Amino acid sequence: MAAKRDYYEVLGVARAATKEELKKQYRSLARQYHPDVNNEPDAGERFKEISEAYEVLSDDDKRAAYDRFGHAGLGNGGFSGFDQGHGGFADIFEEFFGSFGGATGTRRRRRGPRRGSDLRYDLTITFEEAVFGGERDIEYRRAETCPVCSGSGAEPGSRPISCTTCNGSGEVRRVQQSILGQFVNVTTCPTCNGSGEMILDVCRECNGRKQIDRTVTKKVKVPPGVDNDTQIRLTGEGAGGLDGGPPGNLFVVLNVTPHDYFQRRGDDIVLDLQINVAQAALGDELTVPTVDGDTPLSVPGGTQSGRVFRLRGLGVPKLDRSGRGANVGRGDQLVIINVVTPKTLTTEQRDLFQQLARTLGKEVIPQKDKGILGQLKDALGDLFG
Ligand SMILES: [Zn+2]
Ligand SMILES: [Zn+2]
Repeated sequence: MAAKRDYYEVLGVARAATKEELKKQYRSLARQYHPDVNNEPDAGERFKEISEAYEVLSDDDKRAAYDRFGHAGLGNGGFSGFDQGHGGFADIFEEFFGSFGGATGTRRRRRGPRRGSDLRYDLTITFEEAVFGGERDIEYRRAETCPVCSGSGAEPGSRPISCTTCNGSGEVRRVQQSILGQFVNVTTCPTCNGSGEMILDVCRECNGRKQIDRTVTKKVKVPPGVDNDTQIRLTGEGAGGLDGGPPGNLFVVLNVTPHDYFQRRGDDIVLDLQINVAQAALGDELTVPTVDGDTPLSVPGGTQSGRVFRLRGLGVPKLDRSGRGANVGRGDQLVIINVVTPKTLTTEQRDLFQQLARTLGKEVIPQKDKGILGQLKDALGDLFG
């Protein structure tokens, strides 16, 4: 076997060449000498030499060892690429030590189709949209299969070739010596990152990424009854898959804008309503807003602050989780009465209150059982009873 040529010389780069320069030079030489494209008799040999030089110099540890000690610094198994698939020692070791190889934990499935990632879109909707549902257009960016190379990553007319470092297996085996003996260490191929493929003519549209980012517009159907953090899944509308893998999903996560006066409590809608002392004492026919429009509410005389009126069926439709459009009923609207004591009085009102005061006397009734907690219990009882 002839003496090995200097790796830097083989690639035609300076000893101080950066990784980028190495890669660029390797690509251009590989394109020139790959046996698929070059029919000259020594092209195969030359190509091996180039690939070997690149495998060593592109690995920081190996390059450091090579810089200090030359070819001797790489030792046995320092270069492993071309022993694979040639029936050489790699195959034999695989038989003997295959289980060790698998145990290193770095093995990765080569080349298989990969599913695209799931995406999240945060959508803000109004209170009414949450109650009654609706339809919204959303716009977002996602990775899609490159239309120019159809996801191959190679310029049209060219095709990815089998990686020359790993012969397309996506992994590199190294025989290592240890006190326990020899074993085979399997790592992801550094040249192709485990894909098993090498692209010499990179697609100019996607730069070999196989995908491009595109802005898409999709319709989102918001079902009635959703709430904050409800997720709507748009199956297959996430990022595109790689190498024929299926796309991921898009998850639209809802955020509901608070309403000026309605509040959500599960499927019920709560409305705080202020009435004055006269309305509370004498009773009144009121008109209250609901999500379905104004509705009459009869407040009887003697209504206390904190009393709750339940307007049945005027709450939020229960979310149909089956998605079949079933009518699963609605919650209620709860009107909580808050009796407001006037802060300022006209002279006439002051007179009237003074007359009223004389008829009511000055009695103070201690509320033995109805402190703050008692009142709260009443209110809760009204709400949930
Ligand atoms: Zn492309
Ligand atoms: Zn490879």
